[in-house]
Amino acid sequence: MKKEIKLTTYSAILSVVNLLAFNVPFLLFAWRNADSTFLVICLALLLLPLNFFACYLVCYLLRRIGRVLVALCHCISAICTYYVISYKTMMDASMLSNFFNTRPEEALPFITFPFVACVIILGILPMIWIIGAKVNYGTWKRFGASIGASLGISLLIILCNINQTLWIGKHDTELGGLVMPWSYIVNTARIAGQHASANREETPLPDATILNDEKRAVVLVIGESARKANCSLYGYGRETNPLLSQVEDLHVLNAVSNATYTTAGVKSILEYKASDELFEILPNYLYRHGVKVQWRTTNWGEPPIHGPEYLKREDLAAMYEGVDDRYDGVLLAGLRETIEGSPEDKVLIILHTSTSHGPAYCNRYPSEFEIYTPVCDNVEQAAKAPQELINAYDNTMVYTDFLLNSIIDTLKGITDRSCAMLYISDHGESLGENNLYMHGVPVKVAPKEQYEIPCFLWLTPGYREVKQPELIDQHWVYSSVLDLLDVDSPVLDPEKDLFVH
Ligand SMILES: [Zn+2]
Repeated sequence: MKKEIKLTTYSAILSVVNLLAFNVPFLLFAWRNADSTFLVICLALLLLPLNFFACYLVCYLLRRIGRVLVALCHCISAICTYYVISYKTMMDASMLSNFFNTRPEEALPFITFPFVACVIILGILPMIWIIGAKVNYGTWKRFGASIGASLGISLLIILCNINQTLWIGKHDTELGGLVMPWSYIVNTARIAGQHASANREETPLPDATILNDEKRAVVLVIGESARKANCSLYGYGRETNPLLSQVEDLHVLNAVSNATYTTAGVKSILEYKASDELFEILPNYLYRHGVKVQWRTTNWGEPPIHGPEYLKREDLAAMYEGVDDRYDGVLLAGLRETIEGSPEDKVLIILHTSTSHGPAYCNRYPSEFEIYTPVCDNVEQAAKAPQELINAYDNTMVYTDFLLNSIIDTLKGITDRSCAMLYISDHGESLGENNLYMHGVPVKVAPKEQYEIPCFLWLTPGYREVKQPELIDQHWVYSSVLDLLDVDSPVLDPEKDLFVH
């Protein structure tokens, strides 16, 4: 017969295990950033009664179901801790949004041998004990005493550190993103809340006026994880813009993203101002006013598109025979015919690319663009040979250069319209600086690699005079595209318009 274990002992064991197995990154962060050792010790001590309290409460009230929930939490904590340590990241809302928006094939490169080993040893094996143990839940009286004592101790520790609220306020993002299991539980709840609000109808904008019947076409290219630091047009030592650097009248703009992850970055590009609300996005707004709008994508994560033609990789491959649909070149298929065949005076084509999406950068470009070698396809390997990851990333930038130059060449061939190509990335990318990889660090604490983005503009000669702003953000796109298409609107902000009047 299995020996019974009291719920108090059971919860105490799990609370200690949780502290030692999953909260070392949290405590290390506190250790490195706090002035007082007392505070770090208190943070560690605080986690014990708090997690004891949560475990006891859930298991006492929900019994077996409660223990299954605790076991699941334990396993998820193992997965999150692995990512926190390997990718020097944290489980804040941006990282979790990234995670929930990742398609299965994109997750594959993350599933490596050390990952599987970690999940089995720290997650699955303990789960068996957590669910299988024979627990004596005790009486209501013991429940009251245990809950009361754990809350009382927690409160006491908090009161002893009440003078540290400033320090905690300053580091709340990092602390909240590292503490297990609360980081992913609280932040998932926050994302669910945001998602519910994003799914509500977009707020319509006031009507616009199309000022004339002059024929115009704008190709807006949304980049993926492209960073300014690796573009030779911004001074990078490697020639990653061999073609664009030959383009006459190319405007190279200093730009920053308003977010560090795809969904928020794309939303910022398509919205006229920063807001938690969802305002009528650029393609929907222009479509409503009779502009021909087509959305072509190899990516995901944009706000809902209502009305405009929506073409995914496979749709384009079916429409244009013989096109290689493995790479972003598929987005350019039939571009010229689409623009030339449009009866509308005003045309907007949006290309949502995915070329520099990590961590397997080397799978994102055709082999002839493998200029810099050797390349590696995952971040674990990159820790040992950092240059291999940078090589692969730089090849994605060379391929992007080719794609943008091809778009410009296509537009140059269109003679019956004034045309423009505007390229802007959704966010930047870390390639190992300060041991950070990928993106998703909250923008308020993100390193510049994650928000300094490339932005290029090309126009048919004589189409518009371009201003020379010192720095633009993603919300400049809205007013600038309205202006290019001669659309006047109460939301057109001359302060965020790239063109002179
Ligand atoms: Zn992205």
